[in-house]
Amino acid sequence: MDSLVHIPDPVLVVCAHEDDIEIHAGGTIARLVQAGKQVSCVLATSGNRGTGDPAKTMEELAATREAEQREASAALGVEDLTFLRFDDGDLLYEGRRLREALIRCIRANRPRAIITHDPFPGNGSEDACSIYPDHVTVGYTAFQAAFVCAPGPLFHPEHLAEGLDPWKPEVLYCIMSSRPDFFVDIAPVWPQKWGAIRQHRSQGRHVLGMEQFFRNIARELGGRAGLELAEGFRVLLAT
Ligand SMILES: [Zn+2]
Repeated sequence: MDSLVHIPDPVLVVCAHEDDIEIHAGGTIARLVQAGKQVSCVLATSGNRGTGDPAKTMEELAATREAEQREASAALGVEDLTFLRFDDGDLLYEGRRLREALIRCIRANRPRAIITHDPFPGNGSEDACSIYPDHVTVGYTAFQAAFVCAPGPLFHPEHLAEGLDPWKPEVLYCIMSSRPDFFVDIAPVWPQKWGAIRQHRSQGRHVLGMEQFFRNIARELGGRAGLELAEGFRVLLAT
């Protein structure tokens, strides 16, 4: 049976930076949208420090990257896109504010599944990107918000007064894990995934060789599941 049918919707995707979503879950999201499932995406930062060019300002970069993200989300068919606009690289120091923002998103969207970073991605020496502090912070905070705080009425009771009721998602699908145990066949939507990734021009994702680079990653993940091209997740079920 196709693994995709096991992902319950609504689905809330919570990632740290523009391009995290498309690179690690773009094919899965394209397939969910095609299947008529409800998908909302949240970006914790607007990637406003993601450059080596000192002439750029954080404001300019945020505007560029949000515009690229809108194009990428449109390529996947995602219409509901939220930017929380924390500063890139600072999430580790924004714990309580970030957690409140994610609790609010969960109570407002009432997702059954969340796609986010793996809070415990494993041996970081294998993939430095997976232990980048913004990534593990989003994963850890989303985990806490989903399974501990959003269901608890004494966490941010002011939300309840605003009409946002407690809510507990059923499952987290973690990207960037060194131990993926759930694979989605993305061969049918590869052109759509690549069409979304390549929108992130400020990060050089559109240049020659990039499609092959990302295809090789998808082929490696697919090889673990008997698929040509796949995305891989570690599943964390609510207790
Ligand atoms: Zn990132």
